[in-house]
Amino acid sequence: MTAPFGKFFLPGPTEVLPEVAQAQAQPMIGHRGAKTEALLGRLEQPLKDAFRTANPVYIAATSATGLMEAAIRNGVRKKVLCLVNGDFSGRFAKIAAACGKEVVREEIPLGQAFEAAQVRELLEKSGADAVTLAHSETSAGVLNPVGEIAPVVQARPDVMLLVDAVTSLAGSPVETDKWGLDFVLTGSQKALALPPGLALGVASPRLLERAKTLPDRGIYLDLIPYDENIRKKQTPYTPALSLIYALEAQMNRIAAEGGIERRWARHNAMRERVERWVAKEAGAKLGLSYLPREGRRSWTVSCLRLPEGGKLTGPQVAKAMDAKHGYTIGAGYGKLKEATIRIGHMGDHTVAEVEKLLGALEEVLKSA
Ligand SMILES: *Cc1c(COP(=O)(O)O)cnc(C)c1O
Repeated sequence: MTAPFGKFFLPGPTEVLPEVAQAQAQPMIGHRGAKTEALLGRLEQPLKDAFRTANPVYIAATSATGLMEAAIRNGVRKKVLCLVNGDFSGRFAKIAAACGKEVVREEIPLGQAFEAAQVRELLEKSGADAVTLAHSETSAGVLNPVGEIAPVVQARPDVMLLVDAVTSLAGSPVETDKWGLDFVLTGSQKALALPPGLALGVASPRLLERAKTLPDRGIYLDLIPYDENIRKKQTPYTPALSLIYALEAQMNRIAAEGGIERRWARHNAMRERVERWVAKEAGAKLGLSYLPREGRRSWTVSCLRLPEGGKLTGPQVAKAMDAKHGYTIGAGYGKLKEATIRIGHMGDHTVAEVEKLLGALEEVLKSA
């Protein structure tokens, strides 16, 4: 029934290891009882380690977009600067507008990253009380230098930094406390390689202080009850227990691999393998190139431009990879759908598997 692991390279949902999937089959327990408290207690430190924070990690039964909305409702007072370089960072702007916030939308060409100096200027001009961005913009494979941008935001009193780390967390360095992120979130189905349906997030103390002053936090996405409950090893509403079982299994695997830094390093090695293939090996001969520049490439998803005037579009390459070799990769996303392909080398994949995938990709492109 299950295909062998190592063939599914979509940039989310990602491939789930059988042992992680099977952890979901454990029996139900009372969600207000001692067993759930023990379960959440066992997850406390591993999750803090994954987010590099001393603050509690919230576990919400929603896809990542739910916590993006939570970031807006709890973190924006009046006006938000939305840094947009793709569809997911653009989603933040849409959510903010739908929540009645004043939105300053700053859009740069797909494939480019925001730089610290640019953000400093934009912040000065905008007068915003919060900034949103996607750390790893999955639609274009871009990694924004959040570690450099964060001090610029921090230099302005009373501006909150709200970060979508959906395809960076657990796949490349995210230093929640050291960088001073006010809200950072991820979803279960990306670099954590769990089934979809859970979102995880961390709020800074000053974000919680601001949240308490905002009247439109709603109910389900109000972060205050998440914060109060997790400190008692509880969740405000019925937790998605099966997914939390899988999360525990995955946290144990991450510890067994040697911790979160080892997981980052494995992702970096997968990225470097694709980079070498594109720069010096078959990828170069076949005319592929990266959409983002060197140094601004996501560690979890490689967005590659297909050769100009080539025979195959992104969706056709993805289709041939499946039909001829049994691989699932991503076509381009949104406006980049035809012109690019995306390899989601995240979660529990290895360099050896990426190597095989690149061999199949070479055959597909050669035979076109
Ligand atoms: C996948 C993704 C999302 C959306 O996640 P959902 O779980 O579908 O809500 C948001 N941001 C980024 C960067 C993503 O890659």
